[in-house]
Amino acid sequence: MSELPYSYEAPVSQALFDRAAAVTPGGVNSPVRAFRAVGGTPRFMVSGSGPYLTDADGREYVDLVCSWGPMILGHSHPEVIAAVQDAVARGTSFGTPGEGEVALAEEIVGRVGPVEQVRLVSSGTEATMSAIRLARGFTGRSKVIKFAGCYHGHVDALLAAAGSGLATFALPDTPGVTGAQAGDTIVLPYNDLEAVHAAFHAHPGEIACVITEASPGNMGVVPPAPGFNQGLKDACAQNGALFISDEVMTGFRTSRSGWFGVDGVVPDLMTFGKVMGGGFPAAAFGGRADVMAHLAPAGPVYQAGTLSGNPVATAAGLAQLRLLDDAAYTEIDEVSRQIQALVGEALTKEGVAHTVQSASNMFSVFFTDRAVRDYEAAKAQASYRFTAFFHAMLANGVYLPPSAFESWFVSTAHDERAVQRIADALPAAARATAEATA
Ligand code: PLP
Repeated sequence: MSELPYSYEAPVSQALFDRAAAVTPGGVNSPVRAFRAVGGTPRFMVSGSGPYLTDADGREYVDLVCSWGPMILGHSHPEVIAAVQDAVARGTSFGTPGEGEVALAEEIVGRVGPVEQVRLVSSGTEATMSAIRLARGFTGRSKVIKFAGCYHGHVDALLAAAGSGLATFALPDTPGVTGAQAGDTIVLPYNDLEAVHAAFHAHPGEIACVITEASPGNMGVVPPAPGFNQGLKDACAQNGALFISDEVMTGFRTSRSGWFGVDGVVPDLMTFGKVMGGGFPAAAFGGRADVMAHLAPAGPVYQAGTLSGNPVATAAGLAQLRLLDDAAYTEIDEVSRQIQALVGEALTKEGVAHTVQSASNMFSVFFTDRAVRDYEAAKAQASYRFTAFFHAMLANGVYLPPSAFESWFVSTAHDERAVQRIADALPAAARATAEATA
């Protein structure tokens, strides 16, 4: 670890990581948690309260990951915890319908205009996988358009990124995904409507759907260019395909009704996760009633889940959503702007080339002085600078996503004290970033 800037010992986390590595591949249950992109020892967290996380070595951090988005009210919000305790006391899973899942579905339908019907699942991956199956079942077509740099969970057909060229038939991104599974996926450059039109032209009557992150946060934050989402919707409508907006990350975060509340483009299907589960495994897909009517048991497209609509998860999600009124979003947007400004000022002061990009309260820093509009541009940044920045922030008590290609997340709990701690950590981190070498 001595080669890392600002590294310091985390003996208890290291011991836990060693134990974990003996019984779990790479020591983690989701790859990015392992710190592979930045090096060093992943911090094993033992508790969270408001904007803070405490690790197994007893160090406290201001959390700018928020469990990758879900913890929009901060950790251990008393009303969410109370709702969970109340639900748990009545049992943890029944395998029958229950009122909580109806209430959560009603809340989603009430907030997001294009969602007339919704099906609850347990992860964002399940939501996108099911939405794609439904789109194929509904249209009777096979091919799917996705965009390079957009992540939709680890669905086989969607684990594919573009090679060079305008319209590339996807090569699997990972062993274990067959050519056949990825072969119906067409990967296009993000923010490129011409490429979308060309793909529809090349495959008349074959494309079931276009899936996009409503505003991407998985290559860093790269918002859609004005008119891009509407252009996708129009291209789909003209060609008999469905437009699927993946709001797993943006849903109930970027506004009361997610990115739909920002750009107003009406998708045929939408996917949700993260915030709607209140920190528990709950996700959903929904949209046009005539499309959703094709889903079993109403229709022929099969989809199911033992723990779908779980009473504890739905109680947590419902409690969280009910606390997220307009005032809460105003607060989150404001604290996000403050942190963005502080980061920008600190890096500018040290002469570090950077661009802070945001999509409502989601934001990230690219170490380049050019605006980033697609995955190729995101990859071209000086990401070695992020490694220095990340470790210096960590050493000074700020927990950032351990990768240069992730959104940062804030919550209503990020108060003045938390923002001050970030401000205090930034000068040294900006200096370390300026001094970093490739
Ligand atoms: N879609 C988007 C836009 C995501 O950001 C993610 C996860 O980060 C997923 C889908 C997959 O969700 P999950 O990790 O719950 O399977």
